[in-house]
Amino acid sequence: MAEIHELSEQLSNQIAAGEVIERPASVVKELAENALDAQATQIDINVVDAGLSKITISDNGQGIPKTQVALAFLPHTTSKITSRDDLFRVHSLGFRGEALASIAAVAKVTMLTATESGLGTQIDLAGGQVLAQKSQTSRQGTFISVNDLFYNTPARLKYVKSVSTELAHIADIVNRLALAHPQTAWTFANNGNILLKTSGSGDLLRTITEIYSISIGRQMLPLKGHDLDFQINGFVSLPKLTRASRNYVSLFINGRYVKNAALTKALIAGYGSKLMVGRYPLAIINLQMDPFLVDVNVHPTKQEVRLSKEDALGQLLTTSVLNTLQPQNLIPDAVANL
Ligand code: ADP
Ligand code: MG
Repeated sequence: MAEIHELSEQLSNQIAAGEVIERPASVVKELAENALDAQATQIDINVVDAGLSKITISDNGQGIPKTQVALAFLPHTTSKITSRDDLFRVHSLGFRGEALASIAAVAKVTMLTATESGLGTQIDLAGGQVLAQKSQTSRQGTFISVNDLFYNTPARLKYVKSVSTELAHIADIVNRLALAHPQTAWTFANNGNILLKTSGSGDLLRTITEIYSISIGRQMLPLKGHDLDFQINGFVSLPKLTRASRNYVSLFINGRYVKNAALTKALIAGYGSKLMVGRYPLAIINLQMDPFLVDVNVHPTKQEVRLSKEDALGQLLTTSVLNTLQPQNLIPDAVANL
């Protein structure tokens, strides 16, 4: 056996990147979440060939100060948490300080960022190495361009699927981010074709119509519920509006899209026998709770979370759906004046 030795920083970063950056959609998710954490109200996402050639995201958020730009690309550097206690009251989408370092480890990256309009900072990196940094005129916010993803990790590149599959993954993420954040105006385009545009009105039903269609918006019922621990807000479809997969159920915990089979099941249970076998509703559900009740530090992508009162929340969700679907509410198209 060879001697035990420490991996080079570059190699360990590439290995770590594998956990967070699986495919182009992971890059889009991480960068868009950074823009949201920076309080952006406008986020524009452009990809070329489903992100395999290029991904750019620009936001009008807070920007990064000149002295911290290079630091942001080092592993485990974050402005979002400081102490161990902060980990149990995470209010931001990011906190692990891994995304920028991971993306820069497996792609060629350029960022232009400014904390106020005027002189900003441009940084160029490839394979985790800083190539250049200079001052550059910029408006307030951050623009980041990620090129040739996985150019230096051929094994990873092999696992990336076709352009159409990767595009579907990105669209799925962007749709959910836009639904979770209706107060932000989003655009998303592939090869110059605009695939999504929301107004940033802050109105969830309007955002639903912008993402899906007016007809779908008309068939959504408002959902509300609360107890001492949880607040539920959102929209669920009339039982006649269904899909063949559970994928149109989006659950957001404190603004973060999560996958949770138990809660999805609880929501569907509220429909009882109103759904045909093998059919599932559309639902956009915002769950608000004290961050203390949810552990987001379970998986690097933070889509799986651990909830300390999951059963109680599931019951509340089922009851809220039952209430919403009472017969008097089910008159078709009487839902909203769209
Ligand atoms: P995390 O989001 O977990 O903190 P990242 O690697 O994604 O880690 O980002 C590192 C840091 O860079 C963030 O904590 C933030 O301070 C800064 N940052 C990244 N993207 C942006 C952005 N779009 N606008 C402002 N600051 C950003
Ligand atoms: Mg981040």
